[in-house]
Amino acid sequence: MAVADRGLLREINQFTILNTIRSLGSVSRVELAQITGQSRASVTNITARLMENNLIYEKEVKDSNQRGRKRVMLALNADAAYVVGIKVSACMISCAVTDMAAEVRSSVDLPVDTSNRPVEFVADLIYEGVSFCITRAGLTPGQVSGIGTGIPGLIDREKGINHWTLFTQKDHLPLRQLIQGRFDIPVWVENDANTVTLAHQWFGHGRGIDNFLVITIEDGVGMGIVVNGRLYTGEQGMAAEFGHVVVSPGGQPCRCGKRGCLEAYVSNFSIIGQAAQYLGKDRTLITYEQVLGAANAGDKRIQKLFSRAGRILGRGIAGLIQVFSPKRIIFSGRGVESGPLLFDPMEKEMRLHTTGEVMENCDIILQKFCDTDWARGAATLALQELYKSPLDRILPRI
Ligand SMILES: [Zn+2]
Repeated sequence: MAVADRGLLREINQFTILNTIRSLGSVSRVELAQITGQSRASVTNITARLMENNLIYEKEVKDSNQRGRKRVMLALNADAAYVVGIKVSACMISCAVTDMAAEVRSSVDLPVDTSNRPVEFVADLIYEGVSFCITRAGLTPGQVSGIGTGIPGLIDREKGINHWTLFTQKDHLPLRQLIQGRFDIPVWVENDANTVTLAHQWFGHGRGIDNFLVITIEDGVGMGIVVNGRLYTGEQGMAAEFGHVVVSPGGQPCRCGKRGCLEAYVSNFSIIGQAAQYLGKDRTLITYEQVLGAANAGDKRIQKLFSRAGRILGRGIAGLIQVFSPKRIIFSGRGVESGPLLFDPMEKEMRLHTTGEVMENCDIILQKFCDTDWARGAATLALQELYKSPLDRILPRI
């Protein structure tokens, strides 16, 4: 027990040191000890190991406060290792290669239909996309230390299984195992809303904030929760299914099998379905952009779809604010393009149902994430795992 605890502590300390150096750009050992709360001895030990392995390096900078005296700062060696991030959605597979600092070195978006396709087919497409992306970055697969994958649905992150998702999985064949088998590189799989949340925490609007929520509005409605600086995923990683909170018992059927879920009114998928009914058209022949265009051109019936969705969303968000009292709520995904059509009624309803003092401390941010941003978020998942891995696992095997 004592040995396991020491190992865990070492992982956490190493992660904290690497992540602090990454987020600050350059930092002295003394500052590292102050910021992380670790002892000077521990900081010296860990940074010595990281330097030996070329993950960080020393650089001298002039100290403006002390008449040009030089200070030794530590910085991340961004080229020490590379990772790949993959985002799978119903109509797109996006891949990105990033360095240790989470900067994108190459990316590719493959417009392909993944819904209701066998998982082996999806794994083959991922293999093609990732191989192309690695070559485009001027690398070989042997130089990649990990692959992070963001997929919609209920994910068992330990086994890499989707309990329900876009593509079909006979016998629960795990996507993680299929990707790992094709590349022989460690693979991590996570719900896509959680990878976007990690992206915000590392380089987006969640930087430096300990308590925030991310709501993603795409074909589904997803959520990521950061509490006390850590992603909260609940028992077996299945928390934050905000889209499947029932808001209207016996209401519209949801893709999860229940009726009246929030997602069945608010997601782009449901807005398209309801608009298709009004217009008397086949839903497969209408795009979200067309529906949005019709509402912006003044179609009152479609505007009403958005305002009803906004009110339902606003009541849901009010509940979240009362429960979590977050510093910030970030809305991401293509649904953000609906702008005031959805978010004006959302904000009105949210304020109506939230205690003033709690609401005052929470700000709302809308940010559409492009496909590469989602893939970069998935790469962050791999980086997070690498930062706490033993050093021989971080470094490429070449
Ligand atoms: Zn549902």
